[in-house]
Amino acid sequence: MDFDLIVIGGGVNGCGIARDAAMRGFKTALVEKNDFGSGTTGASSQMIHGGARYLLSDVQTTKLSSIDSGYIQKIVPHLLFRIPFIFPVLRKPDKAELPQKLYFEALETYFETYDKYSALKNGKPHTRLSKDEALALEPDLVEDMIGAVTFDEWGIDSFRLCLANVLSAVEHGCEAYNHAEVTEILKEGGRVIGVRVKNLLDGSRRELRAKLVFNAAGPWVPQIAAMAGCELKLRPAKGVHLVLDRRITNYAIMAKAIDGRSIFLMPYQNTTVIGTTDDDYFGDPDEIPILEDEVEYLLEGVESVFPRVREARVINAWAGVRPTLYRRGPYEDDLSREHEIFDHEFRDKLPGFLSIAGGKLASYRLMAQEAVDAVCHKLGRVSPCRTHQVPLPGGERKVDPELLARDYGVPLFAANRLVYRHGSRAIRVLEMLKERPTLGNVICQCEPVLECELRYAIRHEWARTLGDLRRRTRFSIGPCEGTRCFMMGAQILGEELDLSPAEVYAQLNAFMEKSWKGRAPVLDGASLQQEELCSSVYFNVGNLDQY
Ligand SMILES: Cc1cc2nc3c(=O)[nH]c(=O)nc-3n(C[C@H](O)[C@H](O)[C@H](O)COP(=O)(O)OP(=O)(O)OC[C@H]3O[C@@H](n4cnc5c(N)ncnc54)[C@H](O)[C@@H]3O)c2cc1C
Repeated sequence: MDFDLIVIGGGVNGCGIARDAAMRGFKTALVEKNDFGSGTTGASSQMIHGGARYLLSDVQTTKLSSIDSGYIQKIVPHLLFRIPFIFPVLRKPDKAELPQKLYFEALETYFETYDKYSALKNGKPHTRLSKDEALALEPDLVEDMIGAVTFDEWGIDSFRLCLANVLSAVEHGCEAYNHAEVTEILKEGGRVIGVRVKNLLDGSRRELRAKLVFNAAGPWVPQIAAMAGCELKLRPAKGVHLVLDRRITNYAIMAKAIDGRSIFLMPYQNTTVIGTTDDDYFGDPDEIPILEDEVEYLLEGVESVFPRVREARVINAWAGVRPTLYRRGPYEDDLSREHEIFDHEFRDKLPGFLSIAGGKLASYRLMAQEAVDAVCHKLGRVSPCRTHQVPLPGGERKVDPELLARDYGVPLFAANRLVYRHGSRAIRVLEMLKERPTLGNVICQCEPVLECELRYAIRHEWARTLGDLRRRTRFSIGPCEGTRCFMMGAQILGEELDLSPAEVYAQLNAFMEKSWKGRAPVLDGASLQQEELCSSVYFNVGNLDQY
């Protein structure tokens, strides 16, 4: 056997399992068909929250997520950002049967209960705001409100969270492969003994063998299980988010969509994010369509509490599929976010094969711990989990962006972002300036990203495509839609990976096609004008249509 354990799927659960297993001394391989975090994890709302909305239907999930969120905050402090929420109480309550005053009281009681869980994840207790207080914080909130309730959540960059887990796993001896698709589950003597993998960038194939194979493929879990001859059903639910071209509030704001579902708007990095829908999804998780209706549903809902929302430009939309456990009956919103580990030896008489599904980003570490406990049990090894104690790469100590900006001569706004993404490892990135001071140039101005960070991601973080660079650095994701930087990014990728001009153009085209999928559903008004401008730069300046 090459390995003790092969993990299929580089979402947050697979990356977390790979790290935990490698830290416990298992010889581990992680195989991801696209890029780390590129599946559901990257399409999430990026919150490590307890989930106030699960309080009534699924309190155990709220509790476990809050506890695990507390641990995640300790091991990766640099990747966090606080999200204080305002929940406006409108004059006409949506629960019309409740008198106005009672509705406000009920809402406050609800958040009083949530406070108990929120404390586990370092959330501040809720407060009750008068209308004037709420408007002082967010002057563009709807006038027709009697007051508001606040509560406190934490956000995280889920792509970098995955990557931090992969870096740690590899530093503990794991072999990690992105752009490597599992095409077959290998069996021998009635048990699973490994996987056949195809490298999607160069077409090469290889076999990896292990004592155990763990299927952590999120919404693709049923597909991987089927490769092994097992039937495993999920109840996948699609969620869509919109991205606005800038921050339009200081606080996150809760709203009710037209059907009464809770949705939100939150400032996220240099943009604003609106989310999310939650609908049963029976389609292909690789090709999730975003409908104009879904865009309108979200905008219309937010408009009810923040009427000026349409003054901002919607620049993008993303969609993901929740790998929720199978239940027949409940509405999508009421589906439990619990997780489950499936041991196919007992379930399907197929030793050597396990699957994991369900759960939340906020409880990924705990899920990984349980998964690797199961691995220990099966392989007869006793080794305690330490992932709640040992910081992830970059989380070891605090660094001061001001000092870095001064010492390395880079703009403070860029140093701030570098430290957010890399923590203490920002120093390693900036040390590249010794090679050439121009590596300190700002390449992407929207977010902002330095040239050295792009090169670092290629050399040390497995970035092989422009999409990988975008996920690691947020390069080319801002309101200019990459017009100012994505060709420079492609040139850097070409230099670092020694690509031919034709390969560089292939990268550009693939990147544009992918970006287009997120932009097409939101093209309207000012977005349409911007699109025309970008197209003319791509095609007339970059001559992209000739390749
Ligand atoms: C819209 C939305 C919002 C959400 N918001 C939140 C939130 O704010 N907070 C929270 O706690 N949770 C949230 N969640 C839930 C959370 O995102 C998921 O529970 C979590 O990301 C699932 O991670 P995963 O690793 O199981 O799946 P994924 O991230 O999907 O990872 C599975 C990976 O397997 C790979 N794969 C598939 N097939 C193969 C193959 N053949 N070979 C190799 N690799 C393969 C895929 O490419 C993918 O990267 C949200 C989910 C959605 C959809």
